[in-house]
Amino acid sequence: MLVVMKHNASSDEIRQVVDMIQEMGYDARPIPGRQRTSVGLIGNDGQVEPALFQALPGVLEVIPVSHSYKQVSREWKEENTVVTLANGTKIGGTDVVLMAGPCAVESEEQIISIAQDLAGIGATVLRGGAFKPRTSPYSFQGLGVRGLELLAKAREETGMAIVTEALDVETADHVAEFADILQVGARNMQNYPLLRKVGRIGKPILLKRGLSATIEELLLAAEYVIAEGNPHVILCERGVRSFDTQTRNLLDLTAIPVVKSLSHLPIIADPSHGTGVRAKVTPMARAAVAAGADGLMVEVHPDPNRALSDGAQSLYPDQFRGLVDQIRLIAKAINRELAPSVLT
Ligand code: PEP
Ligand code: MN
Repeated sequence: MLVVMKHNASSDEIRQVVDMIQEMGYDARPIPGRQRTSVGLIGNDGQVEPALFQALPGVLEVIPVSHSYKQVSREWKEENTVVTLANGTKIGGTDVVLMAGPCAVESEEQIISIAQDLAGIGATVLRGGAFKPRTSPYSFQGLGVRGLELLAKAREETGMAIVTEALDVETADHVAEFADILQVGARNMQNYPLLRKVGRIGKPILLKRGLSATIEELLLAAEYVIAEGNPHVILCERGVRSFDTQTRNLLDLTAIPVVKSLSHLPIIADPSHGTGVRAKVTPMARAAVAAGADGLMVEVHPDPNRALSDGAQSLYPDQFRGLVDQIRLIAKAINRELAPSVLT
């Protein structure tokens, strides 16, 4: 339940609401907003009578939050959450953020050269898996810790922030020492111990939609992270399983405006895993930005034909340059702009 205070409510009136919630045995969480403060009641077991709060001085309205997610919801927090990275990149505001890089870190030469290209083209976040969740146990599993060290080197040389996947609870702390954003991949979206773990780590989290997860399940997964005290969650639509084999997944662009209405969290799109087909990445990237995505995550490889994973969906650097030129125009048409380059 959310108790929304009038914009001119005094601090005494807010405290009275907080005290009453606590006396009833629940947790009270005041949420200051630009216009007004709200007070969230956590742990409502259905016993709380909204009218009790409605009658208190300074209360504007009482909103029963009926979803099973609370803190991720727009009712809970009206303003968009903006996640700020260590290099100053802001995700969830007016900027459209470009995250790009190879599926996996493969060698020093590969990651440094692609990072330099991408920074020059305007990406501000470098992606690259060091620990890879592969469908087959015999496929390339990533360089592990060496991959993390190479990502850190690429960050040093370019100023880009690093996003990389934490595969399990055991290695999450180690990955967090290197990453600016910890990625929780599609296969782990409902790994609840991992979600709690990254919630306690506190660094920005990129949470990818599960292969057949509903939007509500995605939001509930984010709720796990926030409930542990980490509000810096970025959602990612990366396609869901469908019946058509023309593309690897079905990029659900409707999820973008739906999430925007239900939640204050930023949402980006991954047209690479979303389509699995190089030629389809740019059109779907354009559509995702037009639909309101706060950013894109795109796989780009210096030599896709020799990539150790996901070469077929990886763009050549020049193709990424073309994509960015188009995205810049689309962003402008909807009163947004690309996040400022790390080189300027
Ligand atoms: C990835 O981004 O490297 C990845 C494995 O994606 P997903 O979890 O969406 O399959
Ligand atoms: Mn990949």
